[in-house]
Amino acid sequence: MNMEVPEGHPRAESLRIREKLIRGFEMGVVAKAGLIAHGRGEAFDYIIGEETIEPAMNAIRAAVALMLTAEHPVISVNGNTAALVPKEIVELAKLVNAKIEVNIFYHSPERVNAIRRLLEDAGAEEILGIDDQYKTTIPEISSMRRYVDVRGIYKADVVLVPLEDGDRTEALVKLGKKVIAIDLNPLSRTAQWATITIVDNIVRCVPLMCDIARELRGRDRQELGRIVEKFDNRENLKLVIRHILERLSELSKKGIYLPEVSEVFKEMRE
Ligand code: ATP
Ligand code: MG
Repeated sequence: MNMEVPEGHPRAESLRIREKLIRGFEMGVVAKAGLIAHGRGEAFDYIIGEETIEPAMNAIRAAVALMLTAEHPVISVNGNTAALVPKEIVELAKLVNAKIEVNIFYHSPERVNAIRRLLEDAGAEEILGIDDQYKTTIPEISSMRRYVDVRGIYKADVVLVPLEDGDRTEALVKLGKKVIAIDLNPLSRTAQWATITIVDNIVRCVPLMCDIARELRGRDRQELGRIVEKFDNRENLKLVIRHILERLSELSKKGIYLPEVSEVFKEMRE
């Protein structure tokens, strides 16, 4: 099934993203639960205003600075991430010199292969997490996600985990790793446990991370270290929640969200 998204549709962008996920599902890349997880993210994006807010931008800067100063940075890729931003993930990995590792909850050799093919088509040269020879476990995790690559997440000091599950974020943090999460829900366990939480849609966030990586690449380590030091995740999450609060408070006064609705009702009154 491939529905054309009509031009000019008010939710065109969001529908196009859904189409990408459905195609990813049909290719065996995205899990059923991945489709549901996306819906939860969309709901938060609606409330946030479907834009990258300032606290997200600050988290992006800190996250990129942290990746650039890391010893062994790793980007963990699941089905939704591979379906939505494969090229951008490969680009970011190159810019910050990070390894890419496939790590999925609903594990099967077919799914791992489908994700690998997609990442290779996007230009990835080395993909970890697919060769059994290098497989080891993180005992703190009970799901299939406990299998990690000895060359990747196992020895990483910084792990970027887009659209992550809370259990694993908690486990990685408890193992002493710095975890960067991309999650539209500032209240999720992932968002709360992460070292740096970027509350933004992955489709907006990863291209912005690439831009910032290009900007910060040449800076010296001290300066990058200062950017990381200055960032306070708890304070930043407060700012995200305040943004939501203020936006909803504004809307609660008007009761109307869409300008076109407002126009029609005004005309009817006149
Ligand atoms: P947690 O396990 O961290 O408590 P959860 O169980 O509520 O979270 P999961 O299904 O484990 O949620 O993970 C999906 C998360 O990914 C959700 O928090 C959702 O907001 C987020 N998400 C989904 N799609 C996107 C997207 N496109 N961009 C950013 N975040 C997204
Ligand atoms: Mg979860």
